[in-house]
Formats: sequence, C-alpha cells, structure tokens
Amino acid sequence: MKKTIGFILFVFVALLTQAQNWSSAEIYHEVQKLKNTSRVLYIAAHPDDENTRLISHLTHFAKCDVAYLSLTRGSGGQNLIGSELSETLGLIRTNELLEARSIDHATQYFSRALDFGYSKTPDETFEIWDKEKILSDVVWVIRNYQPDIIITRFSPEVNPDRGTHGHHTASARLALEAFDLAADETAYPEQLDYVKPWKTQNIYWNTSWWFYGDKELYKKILAKEPGAYTYLNVNQHSPLLNVTGSEVSSASRSQHKSQGFGSSPVLDEQPEYLKLLKSASDLKFDELTSRNWSSVMNGKAIDKALSKLLKKYHYTKPSEIVSALFDIRELIQNTPNSVLRKTKIEAINQIIVQALGLRMEVNTGTHFTFQGAELKGELQIYNPSDSEINIRKMVWNKNTLVQNQTVSKGGTKSNFALKLAQDQEVSQPYWLKYPVKNGYVNMSNLREIGSPMGDYAFETQMEMTVDGKEITLSLPILYHTTDPVKGSIHQPIIIRPDVMLNLGSTVYFLNMGTKQSVTVELISGKPNMSGYVELNLPDGWTSEPKFFKTELKNTGERKTFTFTISGPSKESEGRVRAIFKTNEAVYSQGYVQLEYDHINHWAYFPTADAKLVNARIETRGKQIAYLPGAGDKVPESLRILGYEVELLDPNKLPSALSPEDYDAVIVGIRAYNVNADIASFNNLLKDYIEKGGTGILQYNTRHRLKSKELGPLPITLSRDRVTNEKSAVNFLVPSHKVLNTPNRITQADFKGWVQERGLYFPSEWHEDFDAILGMQDDGESEKKGSLVVAKYGQGHMVYTGLSFFRELPAGVPGAYKIMANLIALGQEE
Ligand SMILES: [Zn+2]
Repeated sequence: MKKTIGFILFVFVALLTQAQNWSSAEIYHEVQKLKNTSRVLYIAAHPDDENTRLISHLTHFAKCDVAYLSLTRGSGGQNLIGSELSETLGLIRTNELLEARSIDHATQYFSRALDFGYSKTPDETFEIWDKEKILSDVVWVIRNYQPDIIITRFSPEVNPDRGTHGHHTASARLALEAFDLAADETAYPEQLDYVKPWKTQNIYWNTSWWFYGDKELYKKILAKEPGAYTYLNVNQHSPLLNVTGSEVSSASRSQHKSQGFGSSPVLDEQPEYLKLLKSASDLKFDELTSRNWSSVMNGKAIDKALSKLLKKYHYTKPSEIVSALFDIRELIQNTPNSVLRKTKIEAINQIIVQALGLRMEVNTGTHFTFQGAELKGELQIYNPSDSEINIRKMVWNKNTLVQNQTVSKGGTKSNFALKLAQDQEVSQPYWLKYPVKNGYVNMSNLREIGSPMGDYAFETQMEMTVDGKEITLSLPILYHTTDPVKGSIHQPIIIRPDVMLNLGSTVYFLNMGTKQSVTVELISGKPNMSGYVELNLPDGWTSEPKFFKTELKNTGERKTFTFTISGPSKESEGRVRAIFKTNEAVYSQGYVQLEYDHINHWAYFPTADAKLVNARIETRGKQIAYLPGAGDKVPESLRILGYEVELLDPNKLPSALSPEDYDAVIVGIRAYNVNADIASFNNLLKDYIEKGGTGILQYNTRHRLKSKELGPLPITLSRDRVTNEKSAVNFLVPSHKVLNTPNRITQADFKGWVQERGLYFPSEWHEDFDAILGMQDDGESEKKGSLVVAKYGQGHMVYTGLSFFRELPAGVPGAYKIMANLIALGQEE
C-alpha cells in the first residue's frame, strides 16, 4: 500500500445546514485569518467542558485555527430538554457541540471514551476507559490536527481540598502524556501509515477560580507566582465584525441546551489565565498564537501577498480579490505538505466562493428514504459576479450527477436522479454501530476515530472552474422544504430500515407468576411491507399470541401490537427482541428520531430489544402514598409488584396521613430540595409515623434544603457516595428485620446494580437509628449511612441514599426485595 503521509484522510462533515453567506467585512476577516498559521487544540472530557470564551477569543481575535477534543459524547449526563438519555443523549450532545463550533468557528473531535457517569478519581476512570486506547486516540487527534499549542481545561493534579471528577483529571493527564508521545515515532506506529509524528510546542492548563472554590483564594494563588501565568482579556471588541468575544462565546455556549447552559454576554473584561504545564520550545503563548508564514519553507511570499491584498481590499467589490487569492493558493501549494497547507487551501476555496457571492445548493425533496430507492435532486447555482463558472462535474459515489454546466451571470438549475444500492448502509451514526466494551466504543478503524459524525452518505464532490481556474469543493445533498411558519428548512437525508420496531419499555420486570403486557410499535420505512410481528424470547418464556400477521401500505405508517408474556417457574433474567419477518428478511431495528430545532434531525436505529427479569418478591402491605420530588419512576416500579400507589400533590397536601389508609409513605428523590412547602409535609409525616406508619425518605442534597427537619429524628446529610456499583456490601446488623422479612437479603441481591450504589448519604444520625449497610469506594473509609432505620413512636422511619430511582427501573431484583422489606417494616410477620 502506498503511504500517504501528513494528510487528514477523513473529511469531517460538520454542519449540514446551508452555508452562511459572509458580509464583505467577514470576508476581510477570513483573509486576515489566512495570515495566521497558529493552531490550538483544546482538550477536556465532556461536551460543555470547553471554555467557549477562550476558544472564541482565539478564533475571532487572535485569528488562530482552533479545535476542541471532547473525549466523550456526554451520554452519562442529564437532559433538560427531553427524556432522551444514554446513547441518544450522546447523539444530541455531539450535535450541540457541532452547532457551538459553527458559531465559534472551531473544529470538533471526539475519542472512543464513553461517559459512564460520575467517577471520583482518574485511576478509576482509566480502569474503565482502557487508558491505552484513549491515549492512542488523543495522540491520533494531535497528529491529525498538528497544533502549536495544547490547552487543557482541567489540572492534571487532583485538588486535595475540592476533589475532582475523575474524567476531568484524566483528560488533562492524557493530554500531557500524548504531548510527548505524539512526537515519538515509536509510539503507536500503526498510525504512521496515515499521519506523521507531531511535536507540539507548549501545553497549558486553562485554570479558573472554581477549581479552588473561592475567588479570593484564586487571586492569592495567582499572585504567589506572577510569572507562571499568561493573562488574557478574552472579551475584546472587533470593529470589523462589530462583535465582542463574549457575544460570540455566549451564543456558542447557549447551544448546550440539553445541559441548560444558556448564557448572556457580559459588558466587561473577561480574564483568563493559562499555566504552562510543559514546553518543547522557548516561544511564549503570544508568539505561538500569532505565527505567520515566515517560519514555513517558501512561506515569506505568502505573507507579503496577503498583506498586499488586504491593503487594497475594496469593501464594495470583494470579488476583485479572487484572482489574487488564486495566486496565493499557488504559493501555499508550494509549501511542504502539512495539515496547515490543506486547511488554508480549503479556506481560500471557501473565501473565493464567498467573494464571488456564489450560491450553490444540492437539494432533494426526500427526507427519509430506504435501501434501493431512487432520489430525484437538483443542483442550483446563482452567480452574481462577472466571472464565468463551469461545473466540470459533480460526483456522488463514483456517479457523475451533473457535468459541464456553465454559469455566466445569473442562475441555473440541473436535475439529476440517483439510485441507492440495495446494500447501501442505513444512516446509523458510526460509533453506534459498534459494541461498547467496558468504558469505550469497541472500534478499531483508525480512519473513523476522532470524527464527530463520520462520513455523510450524501456528500458530493464538485469539480469546478472560475475563469478557467480549478476549485474542488464537497457539497452535501440535503432535504429541502419550505415550512409555512419556519421558512426554508434543510435537513440531512436519512436512509431507514424497511421496517422498524419500538418496544414500549427497556425493562420488563415480572414478579413470579404474574404476567406483563409488551407493546410493539411497527413503523414502515418503505411502502407495501407485509409479514409477521413476533417476540424472540428466552427458553421458558412465552407470549400470547405467538405472532400477529399484518401489512403496512404506506411509508411512515405505524401500528401497535400488544403481547402478554409469562416467565418460567424459576428466577431468571434474559432479553426479549421484537422482530418482523417477511418472506425475504427478518427486521429487528428500532427507530429514534431527533427533532429538536437547534440541531440536525438525525435518526438512529438501535436493536429492538429489552431486558427481562423474573424474580420472586414477597410483599406485605398494599397501600402506598408517594410524594414526588425532582422526578423518578419509583411509583411505576412499585405498581409492578402489586402495590396500589397514590401520588400526593405537593401543593395540595391532605390534612392528615393515617396508618390505617397507607401501609407506607414514600418520599421521592430530592423532595426536600424542590418542594416549597415540604416543612408542612414533614409535620404530616412525623404524625403519621408516630401513629404507627412507615415513612421512607429517599436521597436529598444537603444544599438548598427547604426544611430543617428530615422526618421526625435528626439526621445530617453529607456528600458521601459510593459510585462503584460493584463495591462490596457489609451487613452491619444481619438480624435486622429489613434484611430478613419478608425477603431474605443476601450478597446476591447486590449483584447487577447499575451506575452506583447510592449518593448523598447522611454522615450523622440520631442514636435511635440502626445503620444497616456498610460500603465504600476504593481507597475510602467505610460509609454506613446508605440505609438507616429507626423506630419512632408506634412506627418506623427510614432514610436511604441507595439509588432505588436507578435500580428499580433497571429491573434489579435485589433493589426490589429491599424496597419490599422497607415497606413491610410495620406489618405483622
Ligand atoms: Zn465535564
């Protein structure tokens, strides 16, 4: 194989919206940027970790090329705009980053690392991520981007006072190691078939006061070593663009909508400090962010020609610079092969198109399509300039769709049709095609690693000439429509499976001997599909009926089918898969479609399967009152066990709660943080427990508590948590009723927990409480506050930070058994 060294071999398709049209001042600004050859790579762990203030300053004011490497796609986070979590949230946040980058003009990269949720130490993070894999990815991105400077958002040191998020510290440590390894030709030699070793000059930490938790302390730390920090005011004003750094960065930041990070510009100085972590040169930050072509072989003439062009730029006639830009492009072509050269040539091609005022769109009226379909499309060009444009050819997948089309002043349209192959892949985001192995995506195709969305199936290559001089561009074919309310809309074209199936739940939990209904929604991706809907079940499980025969006539038609399933007569776990069988094929992919206004409308097609659990859970008691907190699905899980759960309205509390009406009163997560009138509820609860009821409080955070009391007995909350869901559990009072009645709890009941054991445990409690369980994360002391139980009056009071809100919806039998025992505390044996 011939080695091609020094190129970025993958083309990143960034945003598939229509290109922005630049004003004459913006064109001038972009020509100025051609003069600056500095490249900066910013590295952190999650989407939203990046400092858009510093990035916007570097792109818009220092005029460098900047990229952000987010190690993860943020799938372990929360979602403020919808119910999507895990992979789907990762897809949303990937696209929020792309939108942010389209505003601050940086480039986006990712690694294979998975955001598996909170971790306390970098060592714990590395164990789960497979450090070698992720380190190789960071080296790969550095070699692909060829930066002069790397900036980390986080310190490689763990702050002894404040602790750290393991992912954050890990991201800085990986950046530091990769800084050296990227230059080492013996490191990751398999990458050298595609990229050269790369020596970055300096690596900095972009420090902040919140790392110390206190602005005054931060000032003192900065003052102690005045020479150690580079200071920047990142809120400057550009008279050319009439925009401030803060205006750009807050607009970029506000794209992180799923995280609720909307932000307003400030009208003041914005200081940023950088601390040098390691250097390979004597050059200072200012010098490394203002490099020009003079340090590049054959580069001096480029500087000169750009200065000359800027001097005679005519704001009302930007098209006058086109011929000089072609000359400069030739000069750049004579410099050594590098990512810089490639980036600047692409930038010049863009500037030429903008300076001419060209409009080029490749549109189709089809949003969703299927394998083997034919699409009709149209290339539209508008040329307001005096230059003659010739489209030599526009190629898609080796097919020439348009050729030899000349556009003198005015507009032109060319129609084309393209036929999708029968085996053309469906539009699955590339990293979701691979299995997840522990904490990373198990893929090894180097050329895919790093890319935000991978190759777009509908990218065309356009070869054209402007007054006889060649330009090549890639243009996506997009779905275009005019919405009566929103106006012109462009979206990516999505190839869907012929048929898709969505199950009603991700977990089906059966209390032994009971039945559960399973719904399957069937959606057609192409017309005239007929066949059988079935459930693939493990041995011993059955469904009623066995199948449904059905037909879907139109694309997008939906039908819902309900099966009743029964489990075997012994405890077991397995998976159910929904399938659609035709004479030719078996389909088993689901359908998730994103339809948020601020990001592209991508879709993905996960396997249509769900977890099955068949467990024997004994219950005592029937009636439960549940006071909702910040939102959890515990009531639904309790109903599966046969309890009757009445939701209390926090704004319309009853005048009393009686043990005769309710066998237990359960309080939802963070109810004492979010309900304004929780103190009144607490009085009702005290009275209820005193008269013989069982009160069960789930976790609250110690800050912003809206009541001084939590139940009838004093308790002090802390930040203690056990994040390792496999950590050993110590039974502190083995004979306690909670561990024995009606379900005997054993070590087996702590297997298969998800994400964590629990959080925000109390650190102190009244002497009447028994602490039932002991547990700890590696390297920490045993925490005894995860479950405390006391007798109070005639009844029982329970406080628990165990993560029932995660474990019950995930179908963890042990968590169901413990909850059933808590509810049974006040019942006769
Ligand atoms: Zn983060």
